[in-house]
Amino acid sequence: MAIAIIVGRDLQETKDYHWFTNAWKKELLDFDSTLDIRIWPDVGDVNEIVAAFVWLPPVGVFKNFPQLKLIASLAAGVDHVINDLDLPKHVPIVRVTDPYMATDIIQYVQVCVLHYVKRMEVWEEKQKEKIWFKKPPFNYSDKTIGIMGLGFLGEKAARALQHVGLKVVGWRQTQKKIPDLKSYSGKEEFLTFLAQTDILVCMLPLTKETRNILNKNTFAQLPKDAYIINLGRGEHLVEEDLLQALSSGRLSGACLDVFRQEPLPPEHPFWSQPKIRVTPHIASVTNPHTAAPQIYENYCNLITGKKLLNTVDVEKGY
Ligand code: NDP
Repeated sequence: MAIAIIVGRDLQETKDYHWFTNAWKKELLDFDSTLDIRIWPDVGDVNEIVAAFVWLPPVGVFKNFPQLKLIASLAAGVDHVINDLDLPKHVPIVRVTDPYMATDIIQYVQVCVLHYVKRMEVWEEKQKEKIWFKKPPFNYSDKTIGIMGLGFLGEKAARALQHVGLKVVGWRQTQKKIPDLKSYSGKEEFLTFLAQTDILVCMLPLTKETRNILNKNTFAQLPKDAYIINLGRGEHLVEEDLLQALSSGRLSGACLDVFRQEPLPPEHPFWSQPKIRVTPHIASVTNPHTAAPQIYENYCNLITGKKLLNTVDVEKGY
């Protein structure tokens, strides 16, 4: 019985590849030095592989393993796994829900929101010109933050924003009452949610329902001058629609952590649009040290026949 760590596409050609794979291997062996962990593509006899721990696995890779019984995404998102059309239907998929990762995300969302609310960009510009330009920050009470996706990460981010005195509403797939947090659900309530949202924060998983959801129709429903923060996935955003909405003045700005193409190519217009703040997919980076315990626990659950944690509904896509 062996585990394959499969890391592909974006990392394989980079110096981070060995760091990433070795870090995961080390953390897992710290729990159990008898684990047989192999790094793709040097996995030996494919019939011995029962679990695959993956980040951006090469498309079609899973069909190499006839005895596969578990796929664990080494990240919160699973779009990099379930987009594979050859995904074996009978193999359960689990993902990471790491409280440390949530803290990272909370801090990222808070920084982006407060940077905007406190008009930090204005002061930075004026400082360059040595101009004492006194314009009040937006009143805390006159802005509403709308979080798309009130799941493991989204709800925590919403709470953290409430904690610093901001008004927050949320939107999710299913109806669920959350104490002291107004939440809307489904397509029926999407427009009501958007109409009151001055700062739209996308924390959705990428699914067939949510792909391209940040588009011109969505932007048109927001109050004028709304601000966009996207840390879900690049494919949530229709890039041309954002550029158009910024140049027409419909939206006031955007902070983007994720992109259709990563790394964002040097010629991409986002780099030079002054109303866009670009961060290189760092809202949260899975930390093998903090996430390995739950990956190991799930592997043990598999071996001992116990219930798996953090399973993904492949039909829903998250
Ligand atoms: P969860 O699965 O816990 O939460 C997903 C939320 O999205 C749920 O509230 C769900 O609704 C909602 N949702 C899903 N589909 C729809 C839809 N069609 N319409 C409305 N709401 C929908 O995920 P996490 O909170 O753990 O992570 C969210 C995403 O954040 C990840 O998938 C990943 O893409 C991104 N991420 C980005 C990172 C970065 O560094 N930029 C780091 C980590 C994550 P319901 O509750 O009703 O099911």
